[in-house]
Amino acid sequence: MCPHTTTILIVDDSSSDFKVLSHFLKSRGFKIVVANNGLSAISLAQKSLPDIILLSIMMPGMDGLETCQRIKSHSKTHNIPIIFMTGNTDIETKIRGFKLGAVDYITKPFEGQEILARIQIQLKLKQMQHILQRQNKQLQQEIAQRKITEQELRKIQAKEQDLNYKLEQKVAARTGELVHTTQELEARNQELQRSNAELESFAYAVSHDLQAPLRSIKMFAQLLTQEYQELLQGQPQEYIEYITSSVERMENLIHDLLAYSRAGKNEQTWLPISLEELINTSIRNLEVTIKENQATVNVGNLPTLMVNPTEMTQVFQNLISNGIKFCGKQQPLIEIGAVSDEDNWQIFVKDNGIGIDSKYHQKIFQVFQRLHSEDDYPGTGIGLSICEKIVKHHGGKIWLESVPNQGSTFYFTLPKNLPTLQKPILELKQ
Ligand code: ADP
Repeated sequence: MCPHTTTILIVDDSSSDFKVLSHFLKSRGFKIVVANNGLSAISLAQKSLPDIILLSIMMPGMDGLETCQRIKSHSKTHNIPIIFMTGNTDIETKIRGFKLGAVDYITKPFEGQEILARIQIQLKLKQMQHILQRQNKQLQQEIAQRKITEQELRKIQAKEQDLNYKLEQKVAARTGELVHTTQELEARNQELQRSNAELESFAYAVSHDLQAPLRSIKMFAQLLTQEYQELLQGQPQEYIEYITSSVERMENLIHDLLAYSRAGKNEQTWLPISLEELINTSIRNLEVTIKENQATVNVGNLPTLMVNPTEMTQVFQNLISNGIKFCGKQQPLIEIGAVSDEDNWQIFVKDNGIGIDSKYHQKIFQVFQRLHSEDDYPGTGIGLSICEKIVKHHGGKIWLESVPNQGSTFYFTLPKNLPTLQKPILELKQ
Protein backbone atom coordinates (compact mmCIF):
# COMPACT_ATOMS: atom_id res chain seq x y z
CA MET A 1 0.00 0.00 0.00
CA CYS A 2 1.45 3.38 -0.95
CA PRO A 3 1.68 6.08 1.84
CA HIS A 4 0.10 8.70 -0.47
CA THR A 5 -3.11 6.76 -0.64
CA THR A 6 -3.08 5.76 3.01
CA THR A 7 -5.06 7.68 5.63
CA ILE A 8 -4.12 7.38 9.27
CA LEU A 9 -6.45 8.56 12.03
CA ILE A 10 -4.52 9.66 15.12
CA VAL A 11 -6.64 9.92 18.24
CA ASP A 12 -5.07 11.67 21.22
CA ASP A 13 -5.63 14.49 23.61
CA SER A 14 -2.82 16.39 21.88
CA SER A 15 0.28 15.63 23.87
CA SER A 16 3.43 16.90 22.24
CA ASP A 17 4.66 13.34 21.54
CA PHE A 18 1.73 12.75 19.32
CA LYS A 19 2.32 15.96 17.43
CA VAL A 20 5.84 14.87 16.67
CA LEU A 21 4.49 11.51 15.54
CA SER A 22 1.87 13.11 13.32
CA HIS A 23 4.48 15.37 11.80
CA PHE A 24 6.80 12.43 11.18
CA LEU A 25 4.11 10.37 9.43
CA LYS A 26 3.00 13.31 7.28
CA SER A 27 6.61 13.79 6.22
CA ARG A 28 6.50 10.13 5.02
CA GLY A 29 3.59 10.89 2.75
CA PHE A 30 0.68 9.57 4.84
CA LYS A 31 -2.57 11.49 4.98
CA ILE A 32 -3.22 12.25 8.64
CA VAL A 33 -6.57 12.89 10.27
CA VAL A 34 -6.62 13.81 13.93
CA ALA A 35 -9.30 13.50 16.64
CA ASN A 36 -8.72 14.65 20.19
CA ASN A 37 -11.36 12.63 22.01
CA GLY A 38 -13.17 9.28 21.73
CA LEU A 39 -16.48 10.57 20.39
CA SER A 40 -15.00 12.61 17.53
CA ALA A 41 -12.69 9.65 16.76
CA ILE A 42 -15.74 7.40 16.28
CA SER A 43 -17.50 9.86 13.96
CA LEU A 44 -14.31 10.68 12.01
CA ALA A 45 -13.58 6.98 11.59
CA GLN A 46 -17.02 6.46 10.05
CA LYS A 47 -16.73 9.48 7.82
CA SER A 48 -13.17 9.15 6.51
CA LEU A 49 -12.77 5.35 6.84
CA PRO A 50 -9.03 5.52 7.54
CA ASP A 51 -6.73 2.66 6.67
CA ILE A 52 -5.38 2.47 10.20
CA ILE A 53 -6.10 4.15 13.56
CA LEU A 54 -3.46 5.12 16.13
CA LEU A 55 -5.45 5.35 19.33
CA SER A 56 -4.27 6.76 22.65
CA ILE A 57 -5.44 4.72 25.65
CA MET A 58 -5.38 7.49 28.22
CA MET A 59 -7.88 10.19 27.29
CA PRO A 60 -10.22 12.30 29.36
CA GLY A 61 -13.88 11.25 29.13
CA MET A 62 -14.14 8.19 26.87
CA ASP A 63 -10.82 6.36 27.12
CA GLY A 64 -9.06 4.52 24.27
CA LEU A 65 -10.38 1.07 25.28
CA GLU A 66 -14.03 2.14 25.10
CA THR A 67 -13.40 4.09 21.91
CA CYS A 68 -11.81 0.95 20.42
CA GLN A 69 -14.76 -1.19 21.52
CA ARG A 70 -17.27 1.17 19.87
CA ILE A 71 -15.30 1.49 16.64
CA LYS A 72 -15.05 -2.30 16.44
CA SER A 73 -18.74 -2.76 17.18
CA HIS A 74 -19.75 -0.73 14.13
CA SER A 75 -19.94 -2.72 10.88
CA LYS A 76 -18.50 0.14 8.78
CA THR A 77 -15.38 0.50 10.92
CA HIS A 78 -15.11 -3.01 12.26
CA ASN A 79 -12.20 -4.05 10.02
CA ILE A 80 -9.98 -0.96 10.50
CA PRO A 81 -6.79 -2.03 12.32
CA ILE A 82 -6.23 -0.14 15.59
CA ILE A 83 -2.81 0.36 17.16
CA PHE A 84 -2.84 1.58 20.74
CA MET A 85 -0.44 4.33 21.78
CA THR A 86 0.48 4.32 25.40
CA GLY A 87 2.93 5.30 28.09
CA ASN A 88 3.74 2.66 30.65
CA THR A 89 0.62 0.59 30.54
CA ASP A 90 0.24 -2.51 32.69
CA ILE A 91 -0.03 -5.87 31.00
CA GLU A 92 -3.70 -6.41 31.90
CA THR A 93 -4.77 -3.24 30.10
CA LYS A 94 -2.80 -4.41 27.05
CA ILE A 95 -4.55 -7.79 27.12
CA ARG A 96 -7.94 -6.07 27.38
CA GLY A 97 -6.98 -3.94 24.41
CA PHE A 98 -6.10 -6.99 22.33
CA LYS A 99 -9.35 -8.67 23.37
CA LEU A 100 -11.27 -5.60 22.19
CA GLY A 101 -9.68 -5.90 18.73
CA ALA A 102 -6.43 -3.92 18.84
CA VAL A 103 -3.73 -5.28 16.61
CA ASP A 104 -0.60 -3.76 18.19
CA TYR A 105 0.83 -1.33 20.75
CA ILE A 106 3.36 1.42 20.45
CA THR A 107 4.86 2.92 23.52
CA LYS A 108 6.55 6.13 24.38
CA PRO A 109 9.08 7.37 23.64
CA PHE A 110 8.00 6.89 20.01
CA GLU A 111 10.65 5.59 17.69
CA GLY A 112 9.76 6.80 14.16
CA GLN A 113 11.23 3.91 12.13
CA GLU A 114 9.76 1.28 14.43
CA ILE A 115 6.30 2.87 14.23
CA LEU A 116 6.61 3.09 10.50
CA ALA A 117 7.51 -0.60 10.32
CA ARG A 118 4.57 -1.59 12.53
CA ILE A 119 2.14 0.56 10.55
CA GLN A 120 3.37 -0.97 7.31
CA ILE A 121 2.99 -4.51 8.67
CA GLN A 122 -0.60 -3.77 9.64
CA LEU A 123 -1.30 -2.16 6.28
CA LYS A 124 0.23 -5.17 4.54
CA LEU A 125 -1.88 -7.50 6.69
CA LYS A 126 -4.98 -5.48 5.88
CA GLN A 127 -4.15 -5.62 2.21
CA MET A 128 -3.64 -9.40 2.39
CA GLN A 129 -6.89 -9.73 4.28
CA HIS A 130 -8.60 -7.73 1.59
CA ILE A 131 -7.17 -9.97 -1.15
CA LEU A 132 -8.17 -13.09 0.81
CA GLN A 133 -11.68 -11.76 1.27
CA ARG A 134 -11.94 -11.05 -2.44
CA GLN A 135 -10.65 -14.52 -3.29
CA ASN A 136 -12.97 -16.04 -0.74
CA LYS A 137 -15.92 -14.22 -2.24
CA GLN A 138 -14.89 -15.40 -5.71
CA LEU A 139 -14.55 -18.95 -4.42
CA GLN A 140 -17.96 -18.82 -2.83
CA GLN A 141 -19.44 -17.59 -6.09
CA GLU A 142 -17.74 -20.44 -7.92
CA ILE A 143 -19.00 -22.94 -5.36
CA ALA A 144 -22.52 -21.57 -5.70
CA GLN A 145 -22.26 -21.78 -9.51
CA ARG A 146 -20.90 -25.31 -9.25
CA LYS A 147 -23.78 -26.31 -7.01
CA ILE A 148 -26.26 -24.96 -9.56
CA THR A 149 -24.45 -26.84 -12.33
CA GLU A 150 -24.44 -29.99 -10.21
CA GLN A 151 -28.16 -29.68 -9.65
CA GLU A 152 -28.72 -29.21 -13.39
CA LEU A 153 -26.53 -32.23 -14.09
CA ARG A 154 -28.43 -34.32 -11.58
CA LYS A 155 -31.69 -33.30 -13.24
CA ILE A 156 -30.29 -34.25 -16.68
CA GLN A 157 -28.97 -37.53 -15.26
CA ALA A 158 -32.35 -38.32 -13.76
CA LYS A 159 -34.00 -37.56 -17.10
CA GLU A 160 -31.44 -39.72 -18.92
CA GLN A 161 -31.96 -42.59 -16.50
CA ASP A 162 -35.67 -42.28 -16.97
CA LEU A 163 -35.27 -42.26 -20.77
CA ASN A 164 -32.85 -45.19 -20.62
CA TYR A 165 -35.24 -47.13 -18.48
CA LYS A 166 -38.12 -46.46 -20.88
CA LEU A 167 -35.89 -47.31 -23.85
CA GLU A 168 -34.75 -50.54 -22.23
CA GLN A 169 -38.34 -51.45 -21.55
CA LYS A 170 -39.24 -50.75 -25.18
CA VAL A 171 -36.24 -52.73 -26.45
CA ALA A 172 -37.10 -55.62 -24.16
CA ALA A 173 -40.72 -55.56 -25.33
CA ARG A 174 -39.66 -55.34 -28.99
CA THR A 175 -37.09 -58.12 -28.52
CA GLY A 176 -39.76 -60.25 -26.92
CA GLU A 177 -42.07 -59.59 -29.87
CA LEU A 178 -39.26 -60.35 -32.32
CA VAL A 179 -38.35 -63.59 -30.59
CA HIS A 180 -41.99 -64.57 -30.62
CA THR A 181 -42.39 -63.65 -34.31
CA THR A 182 -39.17 -65.47 -35.20
CA GLN A 183 -40.34 -68.56 -33.37
CA GLU A 184 -43.69 -68.38 -35.13
CA LEU A 185 -41.94 -67.89 -38.48
CA GLU A 186 -39.63 -70.81 -37.83
CA ALA A 187 -42.57 -73.00 -36.90
CA ARG A 188 -44.48 -71.91 -40.02
CA ASN A 189 -41.39 -72.43 -42.14
CA GLN A 190 -40.97 -75.95 -40.83
CA GLU A 191 -44.64 -76.62 -41.43
CA LEU A 192 -44.31 -75.27 -44.97
CA GLN A 193 -41.23 -77.35 -45.67
CA ARG A 194 -43.01 -80.42 -44.35
CA SER A 195 -46.16 -79.83 -46.43
CA ASN A 196 -44.02 -78.95 -49.49
CA ALA A 197 -42.13 -82.18 -49.10
CA GLU A 198 -45.43 -84.05 -48.71
CA LEU A 199 -46.85 -82.34 -51.79
CA GLU A 200 -43.79 -83.11 -53.84
CA SER A 201 -43.71 -86.75 -52.88
CA PHE A 202 -47.45 -86.89 -53.61
CA ALA A 203 -46.91 -85.29 -57.05
CA TYR A 204 -44.06 -87.66 -57.67
CA ALA A 205 -46.11 -90.73 -56.69
CA VAL A 206 -49.15 -89.63 -58.71
CA SER A 207 -47.07 -88.78 -61.79
CA HIS A 208 -45.25 -92.02 -61.51
CA ASP A 209 -48.42 -94.06 -61.10
CA LEU A 210 -50.08 -92.29 -64.04
CA GLN A 211 -47.40 -93.49 -66.40
CA ALA A 212 -48.63 -97.11 -66.52
CA PRO A 213 -52.31 -96.42 -67.45
CA LEU A 214 -51.08 -93.84 -69.94
CA ARG A 215 -48.85 -96.38 -71.59
CA SER A 216 -51.86 -98.73 -71.83
CA ILE A 217 -54.00 -96.05 -73.47
CA LYS A 218 -51.23 -95.29 -75.93
CA MET A 219 -50.67 -98.97 -76.67
CA PHE A 220 -54.37 -99.69 -77.21
CA ALA A 221 -54.74 -96.63 -79.43
CA GLN A 222 -51.83 -97.93 -81.53
CA LEU A 223 -53.40 -101.43 -81.62
CA LEU A 224 -56.70 -99.92 -82.75
CA THR A 225 -54.95 -98.05 -85.55
CA GLN A 226 -52.93 -101.05 -86.64
CA GLU A 227 -55.57 -103.77 -86.40
CA TYR A 228 -58.74 -101.89 -87.38
CA GLN A 229 -57.20 -99.49 -89.86
CA GLU A 230 -59.78 -100.25 -92.54
CA LEU A 231 -62.74 -99.97 -90.21
CA LEU A 232 -61.56 -96.76 -88.60
CA GLN A 233 -61.21 -94.48 -91.58
CA GLY A 234 -62.24 -90.81 -91.44
CA GLN A 235 -63.46 -89.37 -88.17
CA PRO A 236 -62.68 -92.38 -85.89
CA GLN A 237 -59.08 -92.27 -87.11
CA GLU A 238 -58.97 -88.55 -86.39
CA TYR A 239 -60.28 -89.19 -82.84
CA ILE A 240 -57.61 -91.80 -82.27
CA GLU A 241 -54.96 -89.28 -83.37
CA TYR A 242 -56.37 -86.79 -80.81
CA ILE A 243 -56.11 -89.48 -78.16
CA THR A 244 -52.50 -90.23 -79.14
CA SER A 245 -51.42 -86.59 -79.18
CA SER A 246 -53.16 -85.93 -75.82
CA VAL A 247 -51.42 -88.95 -74.36
CA GLU A 248 -48.09 -87.65 -75.65
CA ARG A 249 -48.73 -84.26 -74.09
CA MET A 250 -49.68 -85.97 -70.86
CA GLU A 251 -46.47 -88.01 -71.05
CA ASN A 252 -44.46 -84.81 -71.49
CA LEU A 253 -46.21 -83.24 -68.53
CA ILE A 254 -45.58 -86.26 -66.36
CA HIS A 255 -41.97 -86.42 -67.50
CA ASP A 256 -41.44 -82.76 -66.64
CA LEU A 257 -43.33 -83.03 -63.36
CA LEU A 258 -41.16 -85.92 -62.32
CA ALA A 259 -38.09 -83.92 -63.34
CA TYR A 260 -39.38 -81.01 -61.24
CA SER A 261 -39.93 -83.26 -58.23
CA ARG A 262 -36.44 -84.66 -58.54
CA ALA A 263 -34.77 -81.30 -59.19
CA GLY A 264 -32.67 -80.04 -56.30
CA LYS A 265 -32.68 -83.44 -54.69
CA ASN A 266 -30.07 -84.97 -56.84
CA GLU A 267 -27.40 -86.02 -54.43
CA GLN A 268 -25.15 -87.36 -57.08
CA THR A 269 -21.54 -86.39 -57.22
CA TRP A 270 -20.80 -82.67 -56.79
CA LEU A 271 -17.72 -81.88 -58.79
CA PRO A 272 -15.48 -78.95 -59.54
CA ILE A 273 -16.31 -78.75 -63.21
CA SER A 274 -15.99 -76.23 -66.01
CA LEU A 275 -19.38 -74.71 -66.83
CA GLU A 276 -18.25 -74.57 -70.48
CA GLU A 277 -18.10 -78.34 -70.47
CA LEU A 278 -21.68 -78.52 -69.16
CA ILE A 279 -22.87 -76.06 -71.79
CA ASN A 280 -21.24 -78.18 -74.50
CA THR A 281 -23.19 -81.19 -73.22
CA SER A 282 -26.42 -79.13 -73.35
CA ILE A 283 -25.60 -78.01 -76.89
CA ARG A 284 -24.99 -81.63 -77.92
CA ASN A 285 -28.33 -82.64 -76.38
CA LEU A 286 -30.04 -79.84 -78.32
CA GLU A 287 -28.18 -80.49 -81.57
CA VAL A 288 -31.30 -81.28 -83.62
CA THR A 289 -33.22 -78.23 -82.35
CA ILE A 290 -30.21 -76.00 -82.98
CA LYS A 291 -29.85 -77.25 -86.53
CA GLU A 292 -33.56 -77.09 -87.31
CA ASN A 293 -33.76 -73.49 -86.15
CA GLN A 294 -30.34 -72.48 -87.52
CA ALA A 295 -29.51 -71.14 -84.09
CA THR A 296 -26.14 -69.74 -83.04
CA VAL A 297 -24.90 -70.26 -79.49
CA ASN A 298 -21.89 -68.16 -78.47
CA VAL A 299 -20.18 -69.13 -75.26
CA GLY A 300 -17.79 -66.77 -73.43
CA ASN A 301 -15.29 -67.63 -70.72
CA LEU A 302 -16.89 -69.47 -67.88
CA PRO A 303 -15.51 -70.52 -64.52
CA THR A 304 -14.93 -73.95 -63.06
CA LEU A 305 -17.22 -74.37 -60.08
CA MET A 306 -18.33 -76.98 -57.59
CA VAL A 307 -21.74 -78.03 -58.95
CA ASN A 308 -23.98 -80.97 -59.49
CA PRO A 309 -23.20 -81.53 -63.20
CA THR A 310 -26.47 -83.23 -64.17
CA GLU A 311 -28.58 -80.50 -62.62
CA MET A 312 -26.49 -77.63 -63.94
CA THR A 313 -26.54 -79.10 -67.47
CA GLN A 314 -30.35 -79.17 -67.16
CA VAL A 315 -30.41 -75.43 -66.28
CA PHE A 316 -28.34 -74.47 -69.33
CA GLN A 317 -30.36 -76.79 -71.55
CA ASN A 318 -33.69 -75.30 -70.43
CA LEU A 319 -32.51 -71.71 -70.87
CA ILE A 320 -30.89 -72.33 -74.26
CA SER A 321 -33.88 -74.28 -75.59
CA ASN A 322 -36.26 -71.51 -74.41
CA GLY A 323 -34.07 -68.92 -76.13
CA ILE A 324 -34.34 -70.89 -79.36
CA LYS A 325 -38.05 -71.71 -78.95
CA PHE A 326 -39.18 -68.16 -78.16
CA CYS A 327 -37.21 -66.52 -81.02
CA GLY A 328 -40.23 -65.24 -82.97
CA LYS A 329 -39.22 -64.45 -86.50
CA GLN A 330 -35.55 -63.91 -85.66
CA GLN A 331 -32.83 -66.37 -86.37
CA PRO A 332 -31.95 -67.40 -82.79
CA LEU A 333 -28.76 -66.00 -81.33
CA ILE A 334 -27.86 -67.12 -77.83
CA GLU A 335 -24.99 -65.64 -75.86
CA ILE A 336 -23.70 -67.12 -72.65
CA GLY A 337 -21.14 -65.59 -70.29
CA ALA A 338 -20.23 -64.86 -66.69
CA VAL A 339 -19.05 -62.02 -64.46
CA SER A 340 -17.99 -62.27 -60.86
CA ASP A 341 -18.04 -60.29 -57.62
CA GLU A 342 -16.36 -61.11 -54.33
CA ASP A 343 -18.58 -64.06 -53.40
CA ASN A 344 -20.50 -65.10 -56.49
CA TRP A 345 -20.35 -65.80 -60.17
CA GLN A 346 -23.19 -64.31 -62.17
CA ILE A 347 -24.01 -66.34 -65.28
CA PHE A 348 -26.17 -64.96 -68.06
CA VAL A 349 -28.01 -66.53 -70.98
CA LYS A 350 -29.12 -63.89 -73.44
CA ASP A 351 -31.38 -64.33 -76.48
CA ASN A 352 -32.71 -62.11 -79.26
CA GLY A 353 -36.26 -63.46 -79.05
CA ILE A 354 -39.76 -62.18 -78.37
CA GLY A 355 -38.99 -60.88 -74.88
CA ILE A 356 -41.27 -60.88 -71.85
CA ASP A 357 -43.36 -58.10 -70.33
CA SER A 358 -41.98 -57.13 -66.90
CA LYS A 359 -45.32 -57.97 -65.22
CA TYR A 360 -44.62 -61.67 -65.91
CA HIS A 361 -40.99 -61.70 -64.75
CA GLN A 362 -41.82 -63.39 -61.44
CA LYS A 363 -44.77 -65.43 -62.58
CA ILE A 364 -42.97 -67.49 -65.23
CA PHE A 365 -40.84 -69.20 -62.57
CA GLN A 366 -43.98 -70.83 -61.12
CA VAL A 367 -45.01 -74.33 -62.19
CA PHE A 368 -47.33 -74.49 -65.26
CA GLN A 369 -47.10 -70.74 -65.89
CA ARG A 370 -47.01 -70.16 -69.65
CA LEU A 371 -47.61 -66.99 -71.60
CA HIS A 372 -48.59 -68.65 -74.88
CA SER A 373 -50.87 -71.36 -76.19
CA GLU A 374 -49.61 -74.84 -76.93
CA ASP A 375 -50.27 -74.17 -80.65
CA ASP A 376 -48.02 -71.09 -80.72
CA TYR A 377 -45.20 -72.50 -78.61
CA PRO A 378 -45.28 -76.08 -77.30
CA GLY A 379 -44.22 -76.68 -73.71
CA THR A 380 -45.35 -77.63 -70.23
CA GLY A 381 -44.52 -74.49 -68.23
CA ILE A 382 -42.20 -76.38 -65.90
CA GLY A 383 -38.73 -75.67 -67.35
CA LEU A 384 -38.06 -72.40 -65.52
CA SER A 385 -39.43 -73.79 -62.22
CA ILE A 386 -36.88 -76.58 -62.51
CA CYS A 387 -34.11 -74.04 -63.21
CA GLU A 388 -35.08 -72.03 -60.12
CA LYS A 389 -35.14 -75.10 -57.91
CA ILE A 390 -31.71 -76.25 -59.09
CA VAL A 391 -30.13 -72.80 -58.75
CA LYS A 392 -31.51 -72.50 -55.20
CA HIS A 393 -30.14 -75.97 -54.47
CA HIS A 394 -26.75 -74.54 -55.43
CA GLY A 395 -27.19 -71.58 -53.08
CA GLY A 396 -27.88 -69.05 -55.86
CA LYS A 397 -30.83 -67.08 -57.25
CA ILE A 398 -32.29 -66.62 -60.72
CA TRP A 399 -34.03 -63.67 -62.41
CA LEU A 400 -34.34 -62.02 -65.78
CA GLU A 401 -34.25 -58.72 -67.61
CA SER A 402 -36.39 -58.45 -70.68
CA VAL A 403 -38.42 -56.07 -72.80
CA PRO A 404 -41.02 -57.38 -75.29
CA ASN A 405 -39.51 -57.74 -78.80
CA GLN A 406 -36.02 -56.97 -77.57
CA GLY A 407 -34.92 -60.37 -76.29
CA SER A 408 -34.41 -61.65 -72.79
CA THR A 409 -31.44 -62.16 -70.51
CA PHE A 410 -31.73 -64.76 -67.78
CA TYR A 411 -29.25 -64.38 -64.91
CA PHE A 412 -28.37 -66.74 -62.14
CA THR A 413 -25.73 -66.68 -59.42
CA LEU A 414 -23.55 -69.47 -58.14
CA PRO A 415 -21.46 -69.08 -55.01
CA LYS A 416 -17.71 -69.28 -55.46
CA ASN A 417 -17.49 -71.56 -52.46
CA LEU A 418 -19.69 -74.56 -52.00
CA PRO A 419 -22.60 -73.37 -49.81
CA THR A 420 -22.79 -75.13 -46.47
CA LEU A 421 -26.39 -76.28 -47.04
CA GLN A 422 -25.26 -78.38 -49.94
CA LYS A 423 -23.85 -81.80 -49.39
CA PRO A 424 -20.16 -82.02 -50.18
CA ILE A 425 -18.86 -84.37 -52.84
CA LEU A 426 -20.38 -87.74 -52.08
CA GLU A 427 -18.10 -89.82 -54.17
CA LEU A 428 -15.38 -89.05 -56.64
CA LYS A 429 -15.26 -91.42 -59.54
CA GLN A 430 -11.75 -92.78 -59.85
P1 ADP B 1 -42.21 -73.81 -71.30
O1 ADP B 1 -41.01 -73.37 -72.06
O2 ADP B 1 -42.34 -75.30 -71.28
O3 ADP B 1 -43.45 -73.10 -71.67
P2 ADP B 1 -40.89 -72.56 -69.05
O4 ADP B 1 -41.11 -72.73 -67.60
O5 ADP B 1 -39.54 -72.87 -69.59
O6 ADP B 1 -41.96 -73.42 -69.76
O7 ADP B 1 -41.24 -71.09 -69.43
C1 ADP B 1 -42.43 -70.53 -68.97
C2 ADP B 1 -42.89 -69.42 -69.86
O8 ADP B 1 -42.00 -68.33 -69.84
C3 ADP B 1 -42.89 -69.82 -71.33
O9 ADP B 1 -44.09 -70.48 -71.68
C4 ADP B 1 -42.75 -68.49 -72.03
O10 ADP B 1 -44.00 -67.85 -72.11
C5 ADP B 1 -41.89 -67.71 -71.10
N1 ADP B 1 -40.46 -67.77 -71.52
C6 ADP B 1 -39.51 -68.58 -71.00
N2 ADP B 1 -38.31 -68.34 -71.59
C7 ADP B 1 -38.51 -67.36 -72.49
C8 ADP B 1 -37.67 -66.67 -73.42
N3 ADP B 1 -36.37 -66.94 -73.51
N4 ADP B 1 -38.23 -65.71 -74.19
C9 ADP B 1 -39.54 -65.42 -74.07
N5 ADP B 1 -40.39 -66.03 -73.24
C10 ADP B 1 -39.90 -67.00 -72.45
